[in-house]
Amino acid sequence: METRPKAPASIHTANLLLLLAASVQAGAALILSASNAAGFAQWLFAAVVMGLLLWGIFRGYRLAWLWGRYLTLVLSAVMLATVALGLSLGRLRALQAAVMLGGIVFPMAAVGIALGRPSARRWFDLYCPKCGTPTSRGKDFLFRQARCPKCGAVW
Ligand SMILES: [Zn+2]
Repeated sequence: METRPKAPASIHTANLLLLLAASVQAGAALILSASNAAGFAQWLFAAVVMGLLLWGIFRGYRLAWLWGRYLTLVLSAVMLATVALGLSLGRLRALQAAVMLGGIVFPMAAVGIALGRPSARRWFDLYCPKCGTPTSRGKDFLFRQARCPKCGAVW
């Protein structure tokens, strides 16, 4: 067994917020399952993706870091636009919009920000051991090894 240093606060924060967003999404899927099959699948899919990210970050996979860092920011923005559109078209009630904002949009944006913190990057070993440059680039598709954008070192 490889020994890892204890996860910093930024990782704990990211995991907790991911759990919150996944729960809200699973809850939304459950509510929609009665009325809207397409909506159900979409929300369930989102909840499963969040669950996978949570597992990957927990295990310290760099690939999960990469997706967790950027996908959450993109999803948060998309969800924010969805809420704004829903409100302007009168399809969303204020309470629903508040739940989506507080339960999904803000937590996911915060996950992306938390994972971008230096302590999170350090925990995922994303600083070049040779020159100290932070990287978010993988040598391979699964990001098992990282490559330095500056000096080209692989670790
Ligand atoms: Zn380097």
